[in-house]
Amino acid sequence: MKLERYSFGMGDRFLHQGVAQLQAIVNAKKAGVDVTPVWNKSNREHDIVGTEPASLREEADSAVKALDWKGSYRVDADHINLGNVDRFIHCSDFFTIDVGDAIGQAAPEPDIASFVQRHSRFIGELEIPGAGSFNVTAESLEKVARTFLKAVQQAGVIYRYIETQRDAGFIPEVSMDETENPQTPLEMFFILAMISDEGIRAQTIAPKFTGRFNKGVDYVGDIRQFTQEFNDDLAAIAFAVSEFGLPGNLKLSVHSGSDKFSIYQPIREALQRTGAGIHIKTAGTTWLEELIGLAEAGGEGLTIAKEVYARSLEKMDALCAPYATVIDIDAGQLPSADDVNGWTGEQYARALRHNLADPLYNLHLRQLLHVGYKVAAQMGERYYGALQEFEPSVSRNVTKNLWERHLKPLFID
Ligand SMILES: [Zn+2]
Repeated sequence: MKLERYSFGMGDRFLHQGVAQLQAIVNAKKAGVDVTPVWNKSNREHDIVGTEPASLREEADSAVKALDWKGSYRVDADHINLGNVDRFIHCSDFFTIDVGDAIGQAAPEPDIASFVQRHSRFIGELEIPGAGSFNVTAESLEKVARTFLKAVQQAGVIYRYIETQRDAGFIPEVSMDETENPQTPLEMFFILAMISDEGIRAQTIAPKFTGRFNKGVDYVGDIRQFTQEFNDDLAAIAFAVSEFGLPGNLKLSVHSGSDKFSIYQPIREALQRTGAGIHIKTAGTTWLEELIGLAEAGGEGLTIAKEVYARSLEKMDALCAPYATVIDIDAGQLPSADDVNGWTGEQYARALRHNLADPLYNLHLRQLLHVGYKVAAQMGERYYGALQEFEPSVSRNVTKNLWERHLKPLFID
């Protein structure tokens, strides 16, 4: 099973927007760019919304059927580990193996020593074409093993387990994005050595980048440094593929937390210059487009959108807790529930829609609503019914968001 050059990970919390999402991919194809759609949903999301992984497979299959999509498509078990992979085994064909928690835990001493031994030919001046020259010592090899080897060994255990369970094969990703520090190009190169040593046929790898990747809002950080890291990672991957015999289609996976618009241009330029591929995970914000669509539809749709805000405000602390490291909400910038209750649908939509040029856009309200999906989940049938009733308004927003704000700037111009 082989992942194509460009792939786009889409989240859809409530499983109603598969067709609207796929329509954006169809638009890209019509514009001449082949992008493989990947529907992803993490274990945490399934737990909060109360869905089973098989439902995401059903959604993807039925969207593909509805639009008569002939290209390939994937279903991603996002951020899984040994403890929860079983519920995803038969309905996913893309597995994001998350070993971020094990970074920094030391592997057994003999394993560290044998890693250093096995890769001692790199000691000295190491040129990674496109990323520069690095001075590698036995100590630096040991340090990188001490930080990452245990994590990669753990990825190996999960990888081999999935392998025994799936005759049809799968696309493996190793993710290290949910950790403290960005990996250097040299670390990236040696992490890939470990991945190869473990026999993991990784097709995508998700590193940690500099800057804040807060949920649902734009990138906050040094764009020049991000660009440097992104280019260095591309170089380290290309070199590691040739040195370690990793799959030729191995590429970067960017876990964007949605909507990192200001880094799309450097990403596009790097891809066009190098010919590299990418997997980009985004569109957890599809759920926010649902709210925007409901608000714009007015009536019961707007009422629901306002209720979601009021209840999210009440339960802010609990809703934010699981996402504490990836949101920055200034409560002083949030409108009161009374204020929002007095808004028109247009006011609501403009405060929420991720349009940086709009003076009404409020990134604090946006982040709060982003984590407020639990409130909508608790509305149950009432929420799902509204999605159906106001489907044209909702799907128009979902497609337009993915196509115009994501796919176009990433892959076209
Ligand atoms: Zn991630």
